[in-house]
Amino acid sequence: MNHEGRVARIRGELDSLDVHALLVTNLTNVRYLTGFSGSNGRLLVSRDNARFMTDGRYRARAKDLVKSAEVSIYLNRLTDVLEPLLKEWGITRLGVEGKTMTLAERDDLALRLEGVDLVTAKGPIEDQRRIKSPAEVEALRAAIALGDDTYAHILDRLRPGTSEKEIALELEVHMRTNGADEVSFEPIVGSGPLSAHIHHTPSERRFEKGDFILLDFGARVDGYCGDLTRTVVLGSPSEEQQRQYEAVLTANANALAAMKPDAECRAVDGVARRTVKEAGFDDFGHGLGHGVGLEVHESPRFNRISEDILAPGMVMTNEPGLYLETTGGVRIEDCVLITETGAEVLTQAPKDTLTVV
Ligand code: ZN
Ligand code: ZN
Repeated sequence: MNHEGRVARIRGELDSLDVHALLVTNLTNVRYLTGFSGSNGRLLVSRDNARFMTDGRYRARAKDLVKSAEVSIYLNRLTDVLEPLLKEWGITRLGVEGKTMTLAERDDLALRLEGVDLVTAKGPIEDQRRIKSPAEVEALRAAIALGDDTYAHILDRLRPGTSEKEIALELEVHMRTNGADEVSFEPIVGSGPLSAHIHHTPSERRFEKGDFILLDFGARVDGYCGDLTRTVVLGSPSEEQQRQYEAVLTANANALAAMKPDAECRAVDGVARRTVKEAGFDDFGHGLGHGVGLEVHESPRFNRISEDILAPGMVMTNEPGLYLETTGGVRIEDCVLITETGAEVLTQAPKDTLTVV
């Protein structure tokens, strides 16, 4: 990953942010700019310099990983090194990350950094992270492929009597023993009526004939997150289940057809909603999708209020759903790369017909 290039791009934003330097405290952003993956690291970027700061536990890791900035280790608190550094570099207007910095952190900096104005910066690094480099797309492809493989693995383990929790654990074990750093998020396994809970926590419920089983999970590989949802039926599906599945599948296909550079994310979201309504169902209660990258949910967003515009290099999820009291829930989620001319579906897990297990 080209961390130096990313730091240089943030440097180019300092003027428009009206600051002398930006203090990066969001650990995902720190990782994006330096490659550092520990639990404590801060990066200060000015026009001419970049300094990574962490505590003694990470001395060796910082030396190994951080090439895009010099490294300072502090004993007690960040301001031990930050305060003299700001003086030395002549920085009196310091940008801080308003989206993720806590009020307590900000108060603490204000107290300890005399003569420095703290200025809220609105996500310049999050904005940069929307467009994935070819190396990032490769990492995402690997994470997504592991999700596909895990789905194939889990299918013949879905039997009457097996519990949601058992399957959630097996999903995680398979991902972690096949190359995942960790899971992108706690797997969702929802069965029968519980499949209609959009962010269900796997329970002790045991599968029964006729259940929808909704599986939503992802592997993190090299820091990058996969995100996959498939819904299958145990035993033979009812006509209503078939109709529901087909409506979601058509919404997924129609939304995909609308994804191309310069498309409005709100409009793409609207295409999926129109499709399920035209099939005679109610709208679904969540956005159509989100960017994926170092975080499983990141900018841009497909939803009713999004002002985002698609551009080549974005990787988005496409995840319409329908959640009914009678049958339960269906969601179909793929990851999609926006290309120069349209969109490429990165997810390969089969979905074209309702899978019966
Ligand atoms: Zn998902
Ligand atoms: Zn998702």
